[in-house]
Parts: sequence; structure tokens; C-alpha cells
Amino acid sequence: MKLPIDSETVTLLSGLLGGAKKVVIVMHVNPDGDAMGACLALYHSLLQLYPEQEVVMVSPNHYPAFLQWMDGADKMLIFKDKRKTVKEKIATTDLIICVDFNALSRLEGLEKLLLSSPVPRILIDHHIHPNKEEFTLVISDIQVSSTSEIVYQLMKAFMTIPIPMSAAEAILTGMMTDTNNFRDNASTPETFEVLADLLRLGVDKDKVTAAVYDNFSPLRMKLLGYALENMVILPEYRAAYVALSLAELNRFNFQPGDTESFVNYPLNIAKMKLSAYMSEQQDGSIRFSFRSRGDFLVNDFARKHFNGGGHRNAAGGRLNCSLKDAAAFFVTQLGNYKDALLAPI
Ligand code: 5GP
Ligand code: MN
Repeated sequence: MKLPIDSETVTLLSGLLGGAKKVVIVMHVNPDGDAMGACLALYHSLLQLYPEQEVVMVSPNHYPAFLQWMDGADKMLIFKDKRKTVKEKIATTDLIICVDFNALSRLEGLEKLLLSSPVPRILIDHHIHPNKEEFTLVISDIQVSSTSEIVYQLMKAFMTIPIPMSAAEAILTGMMTDTNNFRDNASTPETFEVLADLLRLGVDKDKVTAAVYDNFSPLRMKLLGYALENMVILPEYRAAYVALSLAELNRFNFQPGDTESFVNYPLNIAKMKLSAYMSEQQDGSIRFSFRSRGDFLVNDFARKHFNGGGHRNAAGGRLNCSLKDAAAFFVTQLGNYKDALLAPI
């Protein structure tokens, strides 16, 4: 099977991992299924490989409730709640592994702690333009649809024992969530070869699928209905968006993760090329999620106008303004991209 990395990298990585008594694994702010999957897969694998090693997982803030079922999720140290413990763990670790983000600026507060540590930092990721100078070793491949898939390839390359079932489940969760259940960006044979490997290992795909997709509260389903009812469709731009205020979210007892897939729905409409989901945050800012079809580079769009970034067809960003102004600004920007939006997919 094609590896996204060369044998020299594998040797370097296994040297660093094998030589560390203490390891800290860090994921990005607002972690998603892929960040959790990559983090937990590494955690379970390292515990099996090096039973003497202390492995600590750190997240800048809470992971969504729909990932609570994952084996080991309860061991995650949340920096927002446990600042002192996280500080101490980072100060005494031998090695730091960063998963599923390309720059320390995506750590919101944890960044300074990591920069103050002299130990090697490894990056395992699949986002464009990794900030290479921030890391000792960069394992990054934007062709791979999830970081979890890269973690699997790494594990397969140097694990001397079978991949533990808990790690295999975590990898499947990451692959599944970052590809929208193997629909988007999952066009390489390697992705399906890894999926086949996981099934052969005995992973219960139906259980993981149900845990990820059939695990919502009744109010979350009502919120989805409300969001779709109020979706704004702009056929003249082949775009559509959903915007939700805090008051609207609160009416449906919003929990982190509830709106995770909302941005995908507008693209179910024929001929749509760009979709946005925007929501008012606790701090009053507006967070954006973007999805696109074909060659519309939504990461450029997010970076240039919405202080964000991401992948070619999936990106996010943030603006400090009212929800109404955010929606109007988004529509204005569409006008500047009309040619790209109306070009055939
Ligand atoms: P989502 O819409 O699922 O929150 O994010 C989609 C993709 O865009 C993810 O891969 C995520 O890493 C990236 N992304 C989301 N928000 C931001 C942001 O504010 N800055 C950058 N650079 N990337 C983001
Ligand atoms: Mn990812």
C-alpha cells in the first residue's frame, strides 16, 4: 500500500516515540472527529507499544458531546478547565505530538505553553501549508482525506504488535467524519484500502456509524429542521447558506457538535457549488463553515475574507460583526466570485 511518508520519516518518528518516557498529544481548538480519532488512535497504540510510557492527551477546549462514546475520550485533558495540570504535563514531557492542524496559532491559548517547551514537536496533519518552522518533524500530506488515515499508515509502518481495536475504531471515526461518511475527498483507493484493513481487523463499522450519525437528541433534529426551513438559497450564485443566532440555538438547547453537519445540506441541492453555515458565538463573533464542490477553492475564500482557512472543499473562519452583517458580507463576496461559482463543475 502507498505510504504518504518515506521510510526515513518512519525511522525518525519511531526513534522519537520509542525514546520518550512522557508524551503529550495535542489537538486543535473545537476538535472534530478526525482530531479526536487521530489523537485517541495514537494514545491507544502508544500505550500498547510502550507500556511504561505516560501518554497524555490535551484539547484546548471541549470536544463535541457526540464523540463522548469514543474509548478513552474521558481521559482527554481540557485546557480550558484544567490549566494547571496541562501546564505541568507540558512542562515535564519529553515529546509533543500535534495532530490535525497546521499551525500552533490554531491552539487558542495553548500555543505559548508549547512554544516555551524545548522538547521535540511532531506534526501529523493533512492541511495545506503547514507552518514547518514550528515543528521538529512534519508528517503532512494534503492528498490524504483525514489525519486519522495518516496515523493508521504510520502505525502500520512501525507497530510491531497488532493495532489495538480501540485505536482502529478511533481511526475509522476520524476517516468517516472527515469524509462525510466516505462521500467527500475520499476519492483515493488508499482510503478504501485502509477501510478494508480496519474491517478485516474486526472493527464494527455499523456500531461506529450509528454512534456518529444516529445519536442526536430530539431537539437537535428539530434544530436541523428549523435551519433548513430558514436556509437562504441563491441560485444566481449557485450558493446557499444557513445562519443561526445564539437566541435561535438556545431555543433548541444547543450543545457543541449539534450543528456539525449543517453546512453539508445546501450542497444536496442540484447544481450548488458553495455552502456556508454561520452562527453567532458566545463571545458575539460569527463563526463560518464553508463547503464547496469541484474546483472552487473555499480555503482561499475563507483565508482572504473570513480570517480562516482549511481545505480546498472544506474550510472555516470568523468575523467580528452582527449575524445580519456577516450574512450580507458573505453575499457581497459571492458577487466577486460569480465567474468561478458559475463555471461548470
Ligand atoms: P469546519 O467547517 O468543519 O469547522 O472546518 C472545516 C475545515 O476548515 C477543517 O479542516 C478546519 O481545520 C478548517 N478550519 C475551520 N475553521 C478554521 C479557521 O478558523 N482557520 C483555519 N485556518 N482553518 C479552519
Ligand atoms: Mn482532519
